This record gives sequence, C-alpha cells and structure tokens, in this order.
Amino acid sequence: MVKINENYLKLPGSYLFSEVARRIAAYTAAHPGVTITKLSIGDVTRPLVPAVIQAMHKSVDEMGTAEGFHGYGPEQGYPFLREAIARHDYAARGMDVKPEEIFVSDGAKSDCGNIGDIFGTDNTVAVCDPVYPVYVDTNAMAGRAGDYVEALGRWNRLIYMPCVEANGFSPEPPKETADLIYLCFPNNPTGATATREQLKAWVDYANANGSIILYDSAYEAFITREDVPHSIFEIEGARTCAIEFRSFSKTAGFTGNRCAYTVVPMELERGGARLNSLWNRRQTTKFNGVPYVVQRGAEAVYTPEGRAQILENIAYYQRNAQVIREGLTSAGLACFGGVDAPYIWLKTPDGMGSWDFFDLVLDRANVATTPGAGFGPSGEGYIRLTAFGGAEDTVQAVDRIREMLRRG
Ligand code: PLP
Repeated sequence: MVKINENYLKLPGSYLFSEVARRIAAYTAAHPGVTITKLSIGDVTRPLVPAVIQAMHKSVDEMGTAEGFHGYGPEQGYPFLREAIARHDYAARGMDVKPEEIFVSDGAKSDCGNIGDIFGTDNTVAVCDPVYPVYVDTNAMAGRAGDYVEALGRWNRLIYMPCVEANGFSPEPPKETADLIYLCFPNNPTGATATREQLKAWVDYANANGSIILYDSAYEAFITREDVPHSIFEIEGARTCAIEFRSFSKTAGFTGNRCAYTVVPMELERGGARLNSLWNRRQTTKFNGVPYVVQRGAEAVYTPEGRAQILENIAYYQRNAQVIREGLTSAGLACFGGVDAPYIWLKTPDGMGSWDFFDLVLDRANVATTPGAGFGPSGEGYIRLTAFGGAEDTVQAVDRIREMLRRG
C-alpha cells in the first residue's frame, strides 16, 4: 500500500484568502446592489507594457518559422535574458553577479518553495512573523516545521521572528541557531524594508553559523528611498551565505506571464558541495525552462522603452500607496509600509482584532482588506491594504474608510 507524505495532512486549510472571499460573498449576498471595493488584491491590474507586447509578438512570429522555432530551451534560461539580468539588475548597481549564477524560472513562488529540495529536512528554519505563507507551508510539507499547534497558530519546529512596531517590522537574528533564514524585503505583508546595517547583521550571523539566507526581493522595484538596499548582494559577505529570489511579476506585470529568477553565487558551499551545482541539478531534473516567448518579453523590460514603460506602471501603484498611506494616516490611523512597497500595514484602531476590523470596514465602508492575523500570530491587530487596484477605486475606498471613521 502506497504511503503518502503525511506532512500534508498536518497543513491547516488555506484559511486566509478563502475566508476573506467567503465573508465578502456572504456580505454581498445579504446586501444586493452594494459594490465592494477591493484593497485586498495581491495581483497587478495594469496591462503589460507595449515594449513587452511587441517583443512577445515578434517572438511568436519567429516560432512560426523553421529558422526561428525554439523547442526546449536551456533549463536555466536563455543567455540573452541571464546576461540582461546580470547587466541591468546587478552590474548597474555595482554588484558582480554572473549569468551562470542566475537561474530563470516560472516564479519566485516556485523557487522559494522548491529551494528546500537542496537542503536536508533536519535543518532549523527561521521565518518572519507575519510571513508570506509559502515559506512556512513548503517547509511544513518537507517535514521541517514539525507539528502545527492550532491554539498558537504556529508550527512547533519553526523559529518565528516577530516583526512588530518596536523593531520597525525588521527582526534581529535570533538567539537560536537558524540554518535556513527566510527574509523578504520590501516585505509582504508589512511593506517594511531592512537597512544596510540590519542586513549586514544577518549576513554576519549567517556566515558565523553556516546558515543560508533565502532573500526574497520580489518587490525590489517599489523601493523609492536611495539608501534602501535592493539586493542582499549589496552587502559585503553575502556571496558566501545568501540566495536571492526576484520576479518579473510585480516589477513588470508578469503575474499571468510567469517569469522570475534565482541567484545562487558560485562561492556558496555547504557540506562540501557547491549550492549552484545542486540547484542546477535540481532545475535540470525537475524543470524544463520558461517559454522562449515569455523570456523575450522579460528581456524587453531592460530596453530603454521597456524600462520607462514599466516605471510608469510602478509609479501608478506607488501613487495608490501614497493615497492610502496619507489618506488613512491623516484620518488618525497608524500606517506602516507603502513607501518602498505596494503594501500598507495598518494598525487597527482601539486594539481591535484583525478580523473584527475587517468585518467593520467591509460593512461600514464596503472595502475589502486582508486581516493581518492570517499572516501569522504577530499580524493580529493589523490589516494589509494593497496598492494594486485602480486609481479611482483606491481614492474612493480611502474616502469611504475616512467617512466611516468620521462617523465613529
Ligand atoms: N514572494 C513574495 C513575497 C510574494 O508576495 C509573491 C507574490 O505575491 C511571490 C514571491 C510570488 O512571485 P511569483 O509571481 O514570481 O511567483
């Protein structure tokens, strides 16, 4: 009789987004004619930019010719894209990342989840709390998280690092030894960033303990302040202790196109093995590459026109973030994030629970949000708002929440 991976049975249901959807559906069924404005969307809404569309059209035409047809491509990505990434995302910012260290993939989600394949199941794992749930659930599936303790809303073998107002939502290295450390800056869900000094402390900790930092910078394109690091590789010593994940999803609206990449430096070795070789082995065995047409589209993001066009879309979302942050701060709410990130982390008034405030805003302002408690125990007392909606909707939603607060 076949045995299943019993770790899957320990996973709690994916409660957060299904519960949000259920409550919105129940509310609209009970209040016909009411339109709910969503500040809960985690997906982009602006269309792909013309430079990307042109590059994709051109490559589709190529695929219809004998000379231009592309079958299986290199699993690691085409050299044209790996070289463009190395040049524009790293060399242009003073970092030396070679094309052979870049693995193009179908998503940062896949890579953040799959990276666990190259690490033993007895490693200790540290995650931020609140956290992007993929880091937690994929380690639970691999058996690294132990058992889920319902009453605490956490796994008993994971090291949770509270990200709270007191530490600016950016944790210090833990007292325990964490082998694998997931860091995400700019952060989903808090919108926080880490300073260079904070990242240096992490790099020093990881090098001293033989740990690996798994650095998710999927929202790097949203950084506005000059001194905020875009990459862990801006930090001295990171090449011997860090892997970085990046994505075209939020940078260039590729959520439906699927293209991302992971950087594994050549210097990175553990247990006598080069992690770049292990990841290469993993990818060439289990992954057959991103479509040629999509990679040509991603390459176009680095042309002068493509770059200018994606920056317009990013600016559009940044304006939404500003509308939310300033509109709600001036109404007396405590808002975090939203400066270098498309997420605003809002503290509920009067110590209200996340779900209670979610229900209140849904009912009284007809705005959908995401309860912070769904991202981990330290998210209780917060809600997450996103800047990915339409500009008019965003202004209207903020006005409605302000009006709700004014009426008291
Ligand atoms: N990493 C973080 C922190 C995210 O919030 C998301 C998507 O919401 C992803 C990764 C997924 O990126 P991709 O679309 O490249 O899979």
